Formats: sequence, structure tokens, C-alpha cells
Amino acid sequence: MAAEGDGLAGLEVDFLGASTRALADPQLRRNFRRAMDGLMAKRAALFADPAEWTRLRALGAGIRARNLGRLPELLETLERSLIRNGMAVHWARTPLEANRIVLELLRARGATAVVKGKSMVSEEMGLNHYLAEHGIEALESDLGEYIIQLDGEMPSHIIMPAIHKNKDQIARLFSQRIKEARYTEEVDELTAMARAVLRRKFEAADAGLSGVNFAVAETGTLCLVENEGNGRMSTHVPALHIALMGLEKVVERLDEVAPLYSLLTRSATGQAISTYLNLISGPRGEGELDGPREVHVVILDNGRSRIFQDPELAATLACIRCGACMNHCPVYTRIGGHAYEAVYPGPIGAILTPQVEGVGRRHELPHASSLCGACAEVCPVAIPITHLLIRLRREAGHRLPGTSVAGAGTARSGLEALGWRVWGWVLGHPAVYRCAAWCATRCWRLLPAGLPGLRAWTRTRSRPLAARRSLGERVRRQGVPRV
Ligand code: SF4
Repeated sequence: MAAEGDGLAGLEVDFLGASTRALADPQLRRNFRRAMDGLMAKRAALFADPAEWTRLRALGAGIRARNLGRLPELLETLERSLIRNGMAVHWARTPLEANRIVLELLRARGATAVVKGKSMVSEEMGLNHYLAEHGIEALESDLGEYIIQLDGEMPSHIIMPAIHKNKDQIARLFSQRIKEARYTEEVDELTAMARAVLRRKFEAADAGLSGVNFAVAETGTLCLVENEGNGRMSTHVPALHIALMGLEKVVERLDEVAPLYSLLTRSATGQAISTYLNLISGPRGEGELDGPREVHVVILDNGRSRIFQDPELAATLACIRCGACMNHCPVYTRIGGHAYEAVYPGPIGAILTPQVEGVGRRHELPHASSLCGACAEVCPVAIPITHLLIRLRREAGHRLPGTSVAGAGTARSGLEALGWRVWGWVLGHPAVYRCAAWCATRCWRLLPAGLPGLRAWTRTRSRPLAARRSLGERVRRQGVPRV
């Protein structure tokens, strides 16, 4: 089990079982297929000009690479700028530390109810559960997050957390869980019901929590991208605003936000711009009529500084959490987000989660990919996802020299290692190799299709057939001399 308040890192996981169950759920697969097809089409329409896409992506990738290259220095600048703007800064190495910081801030002000804007870092922290265990109600105000909170679920997508549910399922859920709700499948009515509940909660909340999309080091500005206005309400109505961010979210200059923002909204939801872009530069000033009295920024590490130490894997930190890699991934679109049993599903989760939780514990995730490259192709900041997946596959079984990857080498299979050693020996002895090839080409067909160990492979595809004669035999028959 996970340590109290320390996110999901210690929970038992069974990716194979969870994905098998997801594949057997036709409704879930229909919901994902429909949603992902729509998102892919909207994104493609907004990046219709390949030249513009290439230019903008190079610009975004360059900004993220430059900022990550100076991460420690920019974080120090950010801290100074935030403090200069009247905000308080808290550093947390682990989710548990971050949870404790938030709890202390709330307790010191006698807070018992908070409203939350969307924050993936708060999911990493398992914040809602932690606060509930300490007698504080945390209500999600993003509509998708609100829906899954009502159903006691985790997000299944980083941008659209309730994408796995269709309209009928949400209608049923609302009629069962919201006191004054009646059953309706009208989307506007359903939204109005959630809005009525959330309005009352915004007015009564003691504090508001939010995520951060970009934090500008030079100006000490927190940028928050959203579509529903709930982010603005969470950060401006209550007297206390606590912003939660991963330490990689820092960018140097305000003008660098514009291209990243454009890449983010177009890649995420196929929107040219989002409905709201909040630029938060401090608490309510002298003579101002609204805004929070206090703003606190909690900056979470949770393995990021370790990832930063590896020159190749540090590219993972460039992610701007757009979700495009998920929408285009043939694995994610079939099994959905919950099967990954992680905060971040899909390709970004398959490279990030093993690095955070340990590559031995989550070694199945880098293998949950066909390596088709669709994720890397659509990534707006050009993260080489397929290369990182291959690197993590190697790290799982072999501790590479000088590696800083958590749990490297701990998923080593003795049987697999023996198999490779035998294979290496066979290749080193041509006579044995020729004999083995001769036997394999003659005997392969005699093996039953459902051979134990091959079943997982042959259940959904035909067993590969060996040629009747090996290439070497055929070449020799043609009279080509052996070299
Ligand atoms: S890895 Fe790239 S495509 Fe995937 S969420 Fe991050 S920025 Fe978006």
C-alpha cells in the first residue's frame, strides 16, 4: 500500500489484467473511439499547414529545451519573482511533503472546504484523499473532474478526465448522486445542474486550489489555461489561493508563453485558443475589489530532479501536458486511461510513470506501445517518445552504467537473460547455428498453435510461419559461394 498521502506510488498494479478487462468492455471502447476520433480530427484541422506546424513545433521545442537546460537557475529566479510579487513559495520533494504543506496552510486558516481547479500535480499527490482523511472537503470544479469525483474514479485522460463516460452514463450518475437532480440526457441541463452545485461551493469555500500550466521566471506570473471559468473562480473568489506545480513548468520569459500556449490548446482540444488564459501575478493589491488575500505556490519535485540528471530522459520534462500523444496512441485509444493505473496514462505516462515510480515496478508500461511513432509525431514539443520507451525497456532489465533511473535492472528476468546467453552462444558457433536453423524450419510447423507462452501472441494474430528452407540453404542451392 502507498504511504499515507504519498500519491499512488505504493499501490499494487496489474497493467495486464486491467488492460485485458478494458479490452473486454465494448462500451468503454466505443466511448474512447468516438472521443479520440473527434479530437484527432479537430487537431488536424488546426495544424493543416505542415510548414506552420513544423515552424511552431521547432519554436516550442526550442523554448522547452532552453528552459530545461537552465532549470535550477530559472527556478531560483522564479522563486525571487513570486516573492517579489507578494506570493509565498513552498518546495516539496515528495507528494507527502506537498500534502502536508497544503494541509498546514489550510489548518492555519481554519479552512474546512476548498474548491479545486484542474491540477494533475494534485492527482500525483492524491490530495483529495489526503485532505478528506484530515477532515477537509476538496471539491473538484472542472466539470470532467467533478463527474469522476462523483463516481469515485481517477481521471482517464489528462485533459478530459471523464472522456471514458458517455452522456447516458453521466445522466445516470447525476440523477443518483446530486440531490436535486432529475434524470435528463440534455447536455445543457446536465451542465446547469453541476453549475448550480459548484456556484454554491465557490461562495462558501475557504480556499481555492489550482494547477499551473506555465510559471514565468522573470515576471513571477502563473499562467493557467482553462475553458470553463472554474479556474478563475477557484483562484479569485476564496481568500486563499494555493497553486500546485511540478518544477518543470518554469519558462524564462512571458513572450515564450504565447507559442507554447498556441501549441497546447491546438494539440489538446483542437482550439485556436482556450476560453480563458489566467495570468496570476500576485494576491489582491491595495484598493483592488477582488482576488485572493494570499497566494501560495507549492513546487513539487516527485522524481523530476532525478529525471533532469539524465541527458536523454530529461526530455520527458519538456511535456506541456496536452494529451495529444494519448489521442493518437493505438494502445491508449483501445484500453483507455484507467488501465494504466497511473496518474498519467498513454505514451507520456509510459515514459514518465516508470521514471517516477521505478522502472522495475512499472516495466510493463514502456512495453505498452507498438513503437509506431504516432505519439512522437504529434508531440508539440518534439519529445522523442519512442526512443525514451526503448531506453526504459532496456533500463528495466539491465542496469546501464551511470544510470540514474529509479529501479533500473530490477525487472531482470533470469530466464530471458539465459535465453539471450544461449542465443549469443549459438550465433558464435556457425555449425550449431546452421543445425538450429535447419531444425527450426522443419519443426516449427509441427508445434501446436496454442503453445503455452505463445498464446498471448497467437490469440489475436496468426503464428508466424518459418520458410521451408533457410536463406542460407536457398543461397547455397543457387550456387553462391560461402564467404
Ligand atoms: S508528451 Fe508531448 S504529446 Fe504527450 S502530453 Fe506531453 S507534450 Fe503532449
